[in-house]
Amino acid sequence: MKLLVRNGRLVTDSGTFNADILCRDGRIVAIRDGFPPLSGCETVDASGMLVFPGFVDPHVHVYLPAAGTFATDDHITASRAALLGGTTSFIEFVIPARDQSPGDALRIWSDKARDAICDYSFHMAVTRFDKQIASELDRVVEKGITSLKVHLAYHDELALPDAELYELLEYAAQRNLTTIAHCENAEVIELRRKRLHNSGKRAMRWHYESRPPLVERDGTHHFLCLAALTGARAYVAHLSCRQALDVAMEFRRQGYPVFVETLIQFLLLDRSYTELPPEEAVKYVMSPPLRNPEDRHALWTALSTGSIDTVGTDHAPFNLHGQKDRALNDFTRVPNGLPGIQDRIRLLYTHGVCPYRISLNRMVEIAAAAPAKIFGLYPRKGSLQIGSDADLVIFDPAVEETISASRHAMKVDYSPYEGWKVKGRISMVILRGRIAVREGQVLLSPGYGHFIPRPAPSLREPQSPGGPRGSDPS
Ligand SMILES: [Zn+2]
Repeated sequence: MKLLVRNGRLVTDSGTFNADILCRDGRIVAIRDGFPPLSGCETVDASGMLVFPGFVDPHVHVYLPAAGTFATDDHITASRAALLGGTTSFIEFVIPARDQSPGDALRIWSDKARDAICDYSFHMAVTRFDKQIASELDRVVEKGITSLKVHLAYHDELALPDAELYELLEYAAQRNLTTIAHCENAEVIELRRKRLHNSGKRAMRWHYESRPPLVERDGTHHFLCLAALTGARAYVAHLSCRQALDVAMEFRRQGYPVFVETLIQFLLLDRSYTELPPEEAVKYVMSPPLRNPEDRHALWTALSTGSIDTVGTDHAPFNLHGQKDRALNDFTRVPNGLPGIQDRIRLLYTHGVCPYRISLNRMVEIAAAAPAKIFGLYPRKGSLQIGSDADLVIFDPAVEETISASRHAMKVDYSPYEGWKVKGRISMVILRGRIAVREGQVLLSPGYGHFIPRPAPSLREPQSPGGPRGSDPS
């Protein structure tokens, strides 16, 4: 099975150049300028188009029980939306209940994910840690799941006591696993939430006050101190504000292996959305909460200089009608989360590349190459190299589209970006050498997606991320 993509302008994390790409048996087998016509080979003309490696979303929820309900997407709808938006692989969180073993939880999530159309992997959340959990985690790691997730927030359901967190980080350090953390001080949030609630401050705007930036800064500092003490490789998930960024950079300057992720919604939205009338405001409740315009500017700057490594979505769709609107007047009962898996790339292009905040190459780095490198998918994913999976996104920069829930493929009844104009269209998506998306239609069937096992990085590899990244040489 051969496929030739001709006349495109290839964009990787390190360069931009004109070339043709030949794919065979799911892999890239040749890249050069000007192939002669090949017989027995499907040919795609990418004249005038940009050709990116398939994008990788490092932070996704599909099967997600939360706040007494479930996120609305299933693996078919989420992976279809991912592909339509140019994301060919995502990493989803398996979140065991405290009384559930990691192995049992992994079986539940794996069964559901078998329907996925795009490729996927899992991060394993740890909600309790002892010797028995450690031996179960060994078997999870053997399956190629080499990143763990801890919550400092969500005190009652998910957060680990410090002694367990410390021992888990030691466990991760010995195996060079990456530990991802939701960094907010859980006990302080609980106290502030209760006080706000009891004093009648329950409108959506008070969600922010229940967990202000210093609560995230405190959680980030706490996590990174324990990671530094134990030698663990640390990934700060969904960093939202300048105060937390400063702490992460302090640890990185000292040479600790610290990676930082932000989310597309933190780059584009701010807390003013939670001050809209309740039926609007409730759409924007998530944790950490949307911050201030100054934070958005700080995050864009940090993305351009290399301080922030990745941009994910934290895709967590809950319907406005029947889920979010059941708690219109009480922020403490609203299911937290925003949808976004379909929109990340066009929004990054429109608001990052077009106004020259980041280069095209940097966009590929933060949304494809860096997530793949940090989590052990590279160079199979996130890359246009000979031998890489033939995952390609053919992007037409000349077209403008409008985001609307009435047209998106995510199974959720609103879009946080309703009516926003975006530049560029995902014209075609190729996944392991097969055309996955053409003219807005997904051509592959449920179950085409593969689970991608991920090796842990070698313990000899240099640990500290680099400084400022190169800019677009084109
Ligand atoms: Zn999340």
